[in-house]
Amino acid sequence: MSRSHGQRGYPEPESGVTDERTLRQDVIATALAMNAAGINRGKSGNVSARLAHGKFTGFLVTPTGMPYAELAPEDVVAVTLAGEAAGGRAPSSEWRFHRDIYATRSDANAIVHAHAPFATSLACLDRGIPAFHYMVAVAGGDDVRCAPYATFGTQALSDHAVAALAGRKACLLAHHGMIALGATLAGALALAVEVESLAEMYWRALQIGEPALLPPDEMAVVIAKFATYGQPRRGG
Ligand SMILES: [Zn+2]
Repeated sequence: MSRSHGQRGYPEPESGVTDERTLRQDVIATALAMNAAGINRGKSGNVSARLAHGKFTGFLVTPTGMPYAELAPEDVVAVTLAGEAAGGRAPSSEWRFHRDIYATRSDANAIVHAHAPFATSLACLDRGIPAFHYMVAVAGGDDVRCAPYATFGTQALSDHAVAALAGRKACLLAHHGMIALGATLAGALALAVEVESLAEMYWRALQIGEPALLPPDEMAVVIAKFATYGQPRRGG
């Protein structure tokens, strides 16, 4: 192989043999797993993975309006970083923020977007997730920001999302949902599940009172520990 392992952003089988069809199957499997994990319902979320081979530089993303269980590999849509879609299906209406994240974040090889119930409940109050729990650092900083609202599918929403993701691997979207990115599809999904878990715990704590927040110096210690040995080796 001329390309390094993992460059295209998904877990490579032990043999190192991968192809675009495998990545298409992995995108579908991740979309199904997203719903099975309870962080998304129906067709509201979407999943993508960076794809770069030959002259193609872009990503594969779930199509708009199709149940994940009915997806075949050829239904997953290839979109270039210029925003040109190929194939017989239209890409997710949210392809713009997928495109803009891949264009600006070299650490992103996969993106999960979900309307996760607890994360979205907080986002409907324009609230992100502060450092109420040390695991907030798993998203890369001492909070998970909530991007301001903009209409779904718009460039304005994408701009808000990219800004909210600065220095982070996840963000909430006001009155909408959440985004998680990773080095792999498995990593992006795991982070989305973790963010939803944190949102649920924060939501529950808020029913009793306003939780105290961990100070920035302690969060810096946790972030440093995650950076050195807290990362799952293949989980992003
Ligand atoms: Zn959405």
